[in-house]
Amino acid sequence: MSTVFKKIIDRQIPADIVYEDEQSMVFKDIHPQAPVHLIVIPKKEIPTLNDLTEADEGLIGHLFVVIARVAKQLGLTGGYRVVVNCGPEAGQEVMHLHFHLLGGRSFGWPPG
Ligand code: 5GP
Repeated sequence: MSTVFKKIIDRQIPADIVYEDEQSMVFKDIHPQAPVHLIVIPKKEIPTLNDLTEADEGLIGHLFVVIARVAKQLGLTGGYRVVVNCGPEAGQEVMHLHFHLLGGRSFGWPPG
């Protein structure tokens, strides 16, 4: 069964897409936790961080380059946070690997 993110990739449900290329997509989180809250995904269906293989090394590098480029375009010069929730204890809800790109406010540490 398709995840909600696969449905966004396939344009079966709408999303506010801010960047897209052959390998990746970036769109606004539907429940933003910061003034900027984007979801960065590979188009390849990888459920969790634990499902990565060595074949995905280039893809993951590409995703971080996309994150840095988008953060720069959005003017997040003061900093931003990138989060991956992996598995139930981390609160992962959507089983399609994704990076949260959060910015536009200060963040505490440790995270909740
Ligand atoms: P997770 O908890 O799995 O790391 O994060 C999933 C994120 O996806 C949540 O922040 C949630 O708000 C977001 N999300 C869930 N469903 C949708 C959707 O249909 N559209 C968009 N744009 N974001 C979604």
